[in-house]
Amino acid sequence: PPSANPVDVLIVGGGIGGLSAAYALAREGLRVRVLERAGAFGEVGAGLQIAPNCTRILHDYGLLDEVKSLGVLPRSMVMRDAVDGGELTRLDLADLERVYGFPYLVIHRSDLHGVFLRACRREGVDLVTDARVTGYENTSSGARVRLADGRADEGRIVIAADGLHSVARRLLIDDEPVSSSYVAYRAALPIEDAGRDVDLSEVSVHVGPRCHFVRYGLRGGEMLNQVAVFQSPKALAGEEDWGTPDELDSAFAATCPDVRSGIPLMWRDRWWRMYDRDPLMTWVHGNVALLGDAAHPPLQYMAQGAIMAIEDGWVLARHAAARRAGDGAIDWQGALAAYEAVRPEHCRRVLTTARAWGELWHLDGLPRLQRNALLRARDPYDYSFTDWIYGPTALTPEEEPPMFTPIPLDTADVSGLPGDTDA
Ligand code: FAD
Repeated sequence: PPSANPVDVLIVGGGIGGLSAAYALAREGLRVRVLERAGAFGEVGAGLQIAPNCTRILHDYGLLDEVKSLGVLPRSMVMRDAVDGGELTRLDLADLERVYGFPYLVIHRSDLHGVFLRACRREGVDLVTDARVTGYENTSSGARVRLADGRADEGRIVIAADGLHSVARRLLIDDEPVSSSYVAYRAALPIEDAGRDVDLSEVSVHVGPRCHFVRYGLRGGEMLNQVAVFQSPKALAGEEDWGTPDELDSAFAATCPDVRSGIPLMWRDRWWRMYDRDPLMTWVHGNVALLGDAAHPPLQYMAQGAIMAIEDGWVLARHAAARRAGDGAIDWQGALAAYEAVRPEHCRRVLTTARAWGELWHLDGLPRLQRNALLRARDPYDYSFTDWIYGPTALTPEEEPPMFTPIPLDTADVSGLPGDTDA
């Protein structure tokens, strides 16, 4: 049970966000405790894509070699049309590593979570399970949390990394998760069970009308990871029981053979309805601060959700370390203000871009053909799409690079592209 022994930082939630922040702060010499409601620390789900803005931080933490040894470094990322199977555009990931200085890799979520868990243990983080937090309050010297079993705990600051359904978020705003009416099916299986040859040197994304399909390798290529995402007609019709396996099959019925052959491998006993929240620009309430999905749950189309959570902890720890006086005391108000000055705007950009990206991926009819023509014309070595996201994580608003705004399809010059009726 949580001891009465006060800590510098009390973290609620032991997901990738909570544990990575705990490690970042503990390696600065701070006393850190993590309260996790589950009976054990762990992650469900399958793969995660980790882009250079995150591998840069893993390198700074001294964890990159371990992460690389557990994951896969694919050679390319290829986007194809899910209906005709044709290639639309690609990223050369070796060149991407050359440009950004750090690799793009894919890893099993539980492996990445395990890396942070072991790192926390090495740094002496107090890791507490069976601790469900139900309330927060600021005190004269810090912040206090209440637990479901009646206990309480305190820290000089409290970081709420309690995910999409965050209790702490209610201190700041009375909002609800926004349903996208899309649902994700996942699968992670031994490669032998795939029943056919799959090219694991690439991260493959097929985009199609109201659906998309992602595929890559895990664990040195021993495992195949797949994600199948589609819009649920039952959700659009307002039915309670939406996103069911029958909907999965019909959503992918008109896709190319390559995609269709992956659908029978999907897990069918569990699926993830996809929610995000509208961006929130205030994350700090006195001595309590939000971090990770609690602050900025995205739609996953940018594959930046876990990465943003890891960046949050890195930024906060850097600001805390920079505001430590000779006697070791930290100006926490200053550190939290600096954190809040830079992270909400970055995450707002990712959240809104992820929504727009989803619309682009899921187009049908003429807009789909126009999108395909624009993507096929793209120079694969043009990094203006990714500079604002894969470059170094900004510590201040001045360091935040300008955002890349994709050309809105309705205003783009599409004359001469397929489907242009005047041509
Ligand atoms: P969570 O993982 O939700 O962790 C919250 C933790 O807090 C949990 O352990 C929970 O048990 C605990 N908790 C909750 N409430 C309480 C409480 N009251 N008291 C105590 N503990 C509590 N991101 C990427 O970067 N790359 C990807 O490729 C990617 N792919 C994705 C694919 C899919 C299909 C989905 C759905 C998401 C994907 N994401 C990806 C997003 C990523 O999974 C999340 O953004 C990330 O896991 C958030 O981490 P977190 O620690 O903030 O929250």
